[in-house]
Amino acid sequence: MKLILLGAPGAGKGTVAKMLTKIDGSVQISTGDILRGAVQAGTELGKKAQGYMERGDLVPDDLIMGIMEKRLQEPDCEKGFLLDGFPRTIPQAEALDALLAKLGIKLDMVVNIDVPRDVIFDRLCTRRTCENPDCQAIYNVKSMPPKKEGICDKCGSPVVQRADETEEAIGHRLDTYNEKTAPLVGYYEKTGLLRTITGTSSDAVVEAIRKELGI
Ligand code: AMP
Repeated sequence: MKLILLGAPGAGKGTVAKMLTKIDGSVQISTGDILRGAVQAGTELGKKAQGYMERGDLVPDDLIMGIMEKRLQEPDCEKGFLLDGFPRTIPQAEALDALLAKLGIKLDMVVNIDVPRDVIFDRLCTRRTCENPDCQAIYNVKSMPPKKEGICDKCGSPVVQRADETEEAIGHRLDTYNEKTAPLVGYYEKTGLLRTITGTSSDAVVEAIRKELGI
């Protein structure tokens, strides 16, 4: 399947994407995960992106398009992909349209995961992430803690609070979402590809996506 997952930070895009990869081998492409990996590895991309990310601002579109242009041409994308956290601005969506046309790829659907702001705020404040850049498993201190406190169940690395998941940075990320990313709902509505799914359970969101796609 070839999907875009839209939704505010904390709406469950990453969790839903991971669940969908198990259905048909489509890959999750999270620009946030790629950028965090680059910051930890200290690459040129990481150095350019770090300040924006810590403030909860968006990384410039040209850096993001550079990442995506390469990533979408890697062989594992042939089975399908789940775009998680990209596109995030109208210029990114327009550049993605051009890139997909160039590569001869058609999207199946754009899923807008709609979750109330208070639920999201609470989720992000209690979210914890595995700091291993190759894992980045997500936990929640209230609803899904790791079996051993502070240690990732999957890889044994420390599970930490992200630098951009303080209350202040979260508030800023949600405002940035409303200003820059929410307009994409209207953009994709016009293409006829958009489906909005309202719900706080990732299982229910995955079921709704399967039903829409008939799989
Ligand atoms: P995420 O893990 O998707 O919440 O992304 C974490 C941070 O990475 C965001 O707050 C942005 O600073 C940056 N980021 C991730 N994806 C994008 C994107 N498509 N465009 C611009 N910045 C991004």
